[in-house]
Amino acid sequence: MTRLVYLNGKFLPDVEANISIFDRGFLFSDAVYEVTAVIDKKLVSWEGHLKRLRHSLKQLNIDFTKTNDELLFIHKKIIEQNNISEGLVYLQISRGQAERDFAFPVQEVEPTIVLFTQQKKIINNQKILCGAKVVSCPDLRWGRADIKTVQLLYASMMKQKALDQGKDDVWFVKNNFITEGSSSNTFILSKSGTLITNSLSSQILSGITRKSILEYSKNANFIVKEKPFTIEDTKNAREAFSCSSTTFVMPVVEIDEFKIGDGSPGKHTLSLRQLYIDNVRKELV
Ligand code: PMP
Repeated sequence: MTRLVYLNGKFLPDVEANISIFDRGFLFSDAVYEVTAVIDKKLVSWEGHLKRLRHSLKQLNIDFTKTNDELLFIHKKIIEQNNISEGLVYLQISRGQAERDFAFPVQEVEPTIVLFTQQKKIINNQKILCGAKVVSCPDLRWGRADIKTVQLLYASMMKQKALDQGKDDVWFVKNNFITEGSSSNTFILSKSGTLITNSLSSQILSGITRKSILEYSKNANFIVKEKPFTIEDTKNAREAFSCSSTTFVMPVVEIDEFKIGDGSPGKHTLSLRQLYIDNVRKELV
């Protein structure tokens, strides 16, 4: 089946969707994005994604005039047109096309808006059964990780490096503390039973999944602390996991060749994953 994508007001077959080589998203990574999960043909945590999108657009001063209702309409339509029951919707907005110049264009430019869908097994992700093995690496990304820009090359290089070593992902480390994963936020459950995740700052993305997990775990009487933690803390933890829109809660069973807990997905991690799924299912859009 041909995949229908959305480009600047039109739904088109993907092969017909063309973007100018002068687009600043292409030349400068001058673009922001969101990835929203789809389960049961509906969007997960839609309001959170909208809010973060507005934050990213504001930080880059991109003048984007579509309303939240218009964005929701396009998302829902693209899910329907591609018959997605489980997967994701990718949204990207760039500043638009202009003569190449480091300075932002002086004349008004129309942002480029792109959406496409991908089918993906999210609930029955086989990786959950064995958990992910991660390696640590220095966090050499730019210092505004809170803005969800398409400037993802370092994260992509490090993810590939992890795969080349037979591992699944990287956890970034800055000033001795774990910041986040290549495309996820990171949690540990300490031996004393405290759920710990890094506090929000410009060094990490304010994950939509992270926020939901914090809320649901507090409601389920977990002791929760938002504070930095180290590789040593992770090695000494009872359990660890990463989280993101398209993996939900992913058990992490090894860091730098060192087994976490007994080296299999933790029981609290798995129950948090189920808690997350049960709760987001009630709020699908
Ligand atoms: N950190 C980074 C660097 C990411 O790319 C992602 C995935 N977008 C996340 C965290 C998790 O964010 P979310 O839960 O909103 O998908």
